[in-house]
Amino acid sequence: MRTDVEGIVLRRRKINEKTSMMTLFTKEFGKISAGTNLSEGRNRNQPALHAFTYGKYELNKTRENFFINKAEAVKSYYSLAENMDKYFHAGYVLEFTDKVLEEGVPEAGVYSALKDFFAALEKREKGFGTLVLAYQTKVLKFLGTEPVLDECAICGQKKNPAKFSIEDGGIICQECYSQVQNTRSESLIYDLNFDIVKVLKYFSANSLTNMQNIALKDAAGRELQSLIRAYAAHYLEASDLKSESMV
Ligand SMILES: [Zn+2]
Repeated sequence: MRTDVEGIVLRRRKINEKTSMMTLFTKEFGKISAGTNLSEGRNRNQPALHAFTYGKYELNKTRENFFINKAEAVKSYYSLAENMDKYFHAGYVLEFTDKVLEEGVPEAGVYSALKDFFAALEKREKGFGTLVLAYQTKVLKFLGTEPVLDECAICGQKKNPAKFSIEDGGIICQECYSQVQNTRSESLIYDLNFDIVKVLKYFSANSLTNMQNIALKDAAGRELQSLIRAYAAHYLEASDLKSESMV
């Protein structure tokens, strides 16, 4: 069966001189692996096979495999590679996305958030890490693992929020915290500093393309990064990413 899809290159692995295995995040089929013999030469196929590209692909779909017949870049964010810091942040986001997506499951929300992330990162001058955290917050939401932020994740009361508990999936109240404190791993409990809840809600509710002027201060950014990584590791098994020490 022949089918046209649009997609974002997550990864490319050379099998031999002629063949590459691409990991594409397609709008239509979610994450897929697809082989291709398209040449890397100086032709218009080339950018469509590289990371940081959003393109159109003509696929041959057999029962078990995808094969890319034609590829055409729609937008290549190659300029990200001109700024090492941007490049590392973009690379981390691709690895994170690859890790949290299940093969063959369409994820329209994550797909459009990833496109927005690239567009926003390209325009940004600083605060790249903040944009990454906002993207990850959206991914948690779209994959159905959004933390509970409006009420205690254990008892549901809206008063006295005391901590953010990874294991309980969101904020917990003072009473519940006193009860579960001894049974929770200390490293998975976070203080509610610097309006951490407000920031998460803001990330969740606003488009990545409207965050040009938002950049967290260093300490707040590091703490939220630690929380989101721990949360994604706990709920989406997104841990030990090769690129995470770079951002
Ligand atoms: Zn409670």
